Amino acid sequence: MTKQISSERKAAYYIGMGLMILGAILFASTFVTFIMNFGNFNNFESNAKSGMLRGFGGIALLIVGGIIRGIGALGIAGSGVKLNPQQAKEELEPYSRMAGGMIKDVLDESEINIGGKSEKIIMIKCQSCGKLNEEDSKFCQECRKKMRFSPKAGQLE
Ligand SMILES: [Zn+2]
Repeated sequence: MTKQISSERKAAYYIGMGLMILGAILFASTFVTFIMNFGNFNNFESNAKSGMLRGFGGIALLIVGGIIRGIGALGIAGSGVKLNPQQAKEELEPYSRMAGGMIKDVLDESEINIGGKSEKIIMIKCQSCGKLNEEDSKFCQECRKKMRFSPKAGQLE
C-alpha cells in the first residue's frame, strides 16, 4: 500500500549506525593508546587489559550496531521495503571501506583528529638562510640567527 517507513525503523537504522561509529572509534582508540604507550612498560599489564577490553568492546558494538541497523533498513523479517537503496548504499560506503581496514578514513569522517591538532601551521622564512621556521620561532632552526618578524606589516622587516 504505502512505502512509508515507520519511525521506529528509522530510529533503529540511525541508532545502529551510531553504535557502529562508536565501536569503530573505540576499536581505533586502542591503537592510539598502544602507540602512545610504546616503549613504556609501566602498568603494561593493566594497559594491555584495558586495551583488549576496548578492542573487543568496539568490535561487539560494531556487530550489534550493524544488526540493529540492518533491522532498521530491512525490517525484522528482512523482506520489507528498503529504506532507500541508493541512500543506504551511500551511507554504507564508509563502513565498507572501514571493513577493509581503513580505520583512518572513519576517523576522518567523524572529524576526529588524533592528538587534537587541527589548526594550520604558519611558517616564516629566515632572512639569512631561507629556512622555513614556525611562526612563533625566536631563532632560526638552521642558522640560529634571530628571527625578525613584524606582525604589523605582516612580513619580514
Ligand atoms: Zn636561518
